[in-house]
Amino acid sequence: MNEMEMPKMSPEEMEEKKKMVLSMCTCENCPTWKDCHDSAKEKGFCFMTIGKSKCIKQEKGCICGSCPVYSKMGLKHGYYCTRDSEMAQNMKDRKEGM
Ligand code: SF4
Ligand code: SF4
Repeated sequence: MNEMEMPKMSPEEMEEKKKMVLSMCTCENCPTWKDCHDSAKEKGFCFMTIGKSKCIKQEKGCICGSCPVYSKMGLKHGYYCTRDSEMAQNMKDRKEGM
């Protein structure tokens, strides 16, 4: 990620935002997440400093669309646990000329 693509947020603002995302995240209710609930309590995958899960590999449905973070942050993608954060997926789209 180069400087141009970094959001203009201070480290404190980033930390605040991350806390907000983690507190509102509904991944725990998702069938895809259930596979990994014992090994890791990971969530908030859409957030730029979190991204892909270290455990989840198989996509079995994604409920991100109904999560309050999704509308609040104007997200457009899904399956953040396997496909990486919103920002990473945006960058991939741009590279692919979408
Ligand atoms: S959009 Fe998905 S990954 Fe992001 S906080 Fe909501 S449920 Fe979690
Ligand atoms: S990012 Fe989407 S698919 Fe992955 S666990 Fe969260 S709700 Fe489920």
